[in-house]
Amino acid sequence: MSELAKLINDTSKSIIDMAEASLKELSPDQNIEFKDTAYHLPLAYALLGKEIKTASQAKDIIASARKLWQGQALDNGLNVPYLNGFLNQGLATLFCEELLTAINYAKGKTAGSGWIGFIPDTILRSLGLQLVDGRIAGIAVILGRPKDSSAAADIIRGFQEKNIVSILVGDVDGMTLADQLKKEGVEVGLDNYIVPLGPDALSSIFAVNFAIRAPLIYGGCKSGEWKKNLEYCQERVPAFVLVLGKLDEVIVTTGMGVLNLGFPIITDMDAPSVPKIETTKFEAIVVEKDYKKIVARCVETRDIKIKVHKLDIPVLYGPAFEGERVRKENLYVEFGGKKAMGFEFLKYVDMDKVEDGKVELIGPDIDVIKEQSLPLGIIVEVAARSAKEDFEPILERQLHRYLNEAQGIMHIGQRDIIWVRISQEAFKKGLRLKHFGVILHAMIHQEYSAIVDKVQVKIYSNKKDVEEKIKEARLSYTKRDDRLSGMTDEAVEDFYSCALCQSFAPNHICVITPERLGLCGAYSWLDAKANFQISPAGANQPIQKGKILDDRLGQWKNINDFVYKKSNSTIDKVSMYSLIESPQSSCGCFECIVAMVPEANGVMIVHRDYAGDTPLGMTFTTLASSVGGGVQTPGFLGVGKLYLTSKKFILAEGGIKRIVWMPKDLKEFLQAKLEERAKEIGDPDFVSKIADETSATTLEQLLEFLNKAKHPALEMPSLI
Ligand code: SF4
Ligand code: ZN
Repeated sequence: MSELAKLINDTSKSIIDMAEASLKELSPDQNIEFKDTAYHLPLAYALLGKEIKTASQAKDIIASARKLWQGQALDNGLNVPYLNGFLNQGLATLFCEELLTAINYAKGKTAGSGWIGFIPDTILRSLGLQLVDGRIAGIAVILGRPKDSSAAADIIRGFQEKNIVSILVGDVDGMTLADQLKKEGVEVGLDNYIVPLGPDALSSIFAVNFAIRAPLIYGGCKSGEWKKNLEYCQERVPAFVLVLGKLDEVIVTTGMGVLNLGFPIITDMDAPSVPKIETTKFEAIVVEKDYKKIVARCVETRDIKIKVHKLDIPVLYGPAFEGERVRKENLYVEFGGKKAMGFEFLKYVDMDKVEDGKVELIGPDIDVIKEQSLPLGIIVEVAARSAKEDFEPILERQLHRYLNEAQGIMHIGQRDIIWVRISQEAFKKGLRLKHFGVILHAMIHQEYSAIVDKVQVKIYSNKKDVEEKIKEARLSYTKRDDRLSGMTDEAVEDFYSCALCQSFAPNHICVITPERLGLCGAYSWLDAKANFQISPAGANQPIQKGKILDDRLGQWKNINDFVYKKSNSTIDKVSMYSLIESPQSSCGCFECIVAMVPEANGVMIVHRDYAGDTPLGMTFTTLASSVGGGVQTPGFLGVGKLYLTSKKFILAEGGIKRIVWMPKDLKEFLQAKLEERAKEIGDPDFVSKIADETSATTLEQLLEFLNKAKHPALEMPSLI
């Protein structure tokens, strides 16, 4: 046996032994679980087909691991006989590492403060959309750290600039990469694309059992379908492992396990290079000792496609900086917010009124002002050969993202409620107000060249000007709202499809109508229409409605045909307005779930940010696990928040009057629109009849509340 083979063989065995011994310390009926997941021990669930909930059930994991370790196929056929059996032994190791961490939780040991540990399902769901729309290009699982902290900052900045999320695991000689970043003043956190998982190498398993949930959530893969689950990760999860500064037997053996998911390993340590194997796209193991080249090597090896925006500004730029906060201690100057007036406004004007690229600052720049809180007005004037007023709100909505993506600029809100902060570092690096214009001009051209030919930006920093110019903007905001709210499904010829999520959920297709936005909440009918103009062969296609088949359900022949084709022949009928009969499928990134509550003859709604209990006895996470993967689930529907107040909301079942419960937060968020709808249905007090968690978290409490409130659903025809 070669030295390496012996090392992997022995290490794998000792980890299996360790898990077994650790398990014996628990009583057989003791619970073993991770919090906030519907997938139990996800790796065992996905690949072994086992729902492990107790210590005695967990013995199955040990037995399976031993078999794999010996190179025997499991009952469900699981067997990955590549690289001299290393992959099987690596996988056996992963199963036991997952079990060990779960046992640690059962014993009350957590990852420690500042570390995330097990990653909940909701984070994966919220990342899904960012992965499909390209805001996240890849995931780097980084074990250990480079030699010095300036290299650490460079590597992480390199990933941030390429929209790659860094997941940090373990230490070298007691120091972690997170420590190094802190020293360099780099802010850590999911918003900054830097996620600290845990201080020991064992925590890398949390990255693995995070990745393995993607096929379950998005891919429609089932528990135990080990091959499909692994292939999904190999093909669709753009992750890789970077091992820095330390390479011990546990890391090597775990690494063999990770190769099963197709994630290559890049390291700065002395290690044998391994060319492509069956599970990887290119090389399996790559050695790169030059820190300056390491980011590029990672990207090449995993074949990650990068979109970089090169802008002529003195700070870094990219989606990784979008969520970055500028805190008080670090604040140089702020605009708008509570203390001053601020607005942004984009409009189409005539071609000859725009000088492309012109940025005018009317008022003082930030190097001459004395105050820390100032008014600000941003007017973006765009022109196109055929101006498209309809697209103004879509373009204007991007300003938020464009400005936020600059390092050191924080932008919150839109229209006349903007709040903008600039950090001290950004100021020191030379960032000035005119750069706002540089950013907006460049980004609009990059992303919307199909509907915009010229862009110029005017920035106002005097109170008097801002007060004056805000008036015109406000008139326009109102006009736009009226125009949009008048749009109905009946009034248009075409609906639009969205296939963006197919890179994750290959059978899922959204149909977007003026009165029903995409279930992720990010794309309205107008957005889809604009996107189609921008890229005619892209993810959004018009579908001419054609002949109506059923106006109660909202079914059209052409829509059905289109969905059948685009869902790989898995869905032959789809109702735009029904929850029960052929409802739309879900990919997994829905903002809310609508679920039938038969006992109350109505539906409840729960959104992603609500972690508590619902009257159905299930949390969002549990409910969500049965609504996804591109399949139709009668009685359940993934929807965007705004669809809840649409006149077409589950019309076939009687519409909004069916809503019996939703979390308080969501109710407050939708309050004004819900009240408007309540008036329209002739029940002005309706909103107060909807229960929330303060009035009911069980079915009994719910029914009591509804009876007292005389909720209309109780009088409606039976739902089923
Ligand atoms: Fe995905 Fe549908 Fe949103 Fe498109 S509209 S991004 S397919 S959820
Ligand atoms: Zn989606």
